[in-house]
Amino acid sequence: MTDNIHATVDEQLRRTRQRYTRGRRQLVELLEQAERPVTIPELMDIGASQSQSSLYRNLAILEQCGAVHRLVSTDDVSRYELAEELSEHHHHLVCSACGRLEDVVLPPAIERALVRAAEEAREQRDFDVDSHRLELVGTCPTCA
Ligand SMILES: [Zn+2]
Ligand SMILES: [Zn+2]
Repeated sequence: MTDNIHATVDEQLRRTRQRYTRGRRQLVELLEQAERPVTIPELMDIGASQSQSSLYRNLAILEQCGAVHRLVSTDDVSRYELAEELSEHHHHLVCSACGRLEDVVLPPAIERALVRAAEEAREQRDFDVDSHRLELVGTCPTCA
């Protein structure tokens, strides 16, 4: 699985004329291990051994090629996760107090209902849906 991820990221970077450097590989590995979208300080805490400016640059390049997805939470801080093509389809629990994001996989019945909603949007509104995002907003255990 991990080798697959690296091969895909390598391909995505090549398409944008970038190289899969050691620093970028390290970030992909850290994001793969992280259990939720992480901030830049959190990436440094979990072992990103590169300067903050390299981190910003590498994340921007990984985001540009489609390997990494950047999310801005309720605290206006950017958090990063691997793109869904490299992980699995999921949604997020959002803490409105501290901005923390947690991944959540929704029951298949809900996903099917969302697919139906996309079909309806196409039929009734002539709107072409590519994907969907769902956030469950509330209070995390730390902030409760
Ligand atoms: Zn919180
Ligand atoms: Zn979904």
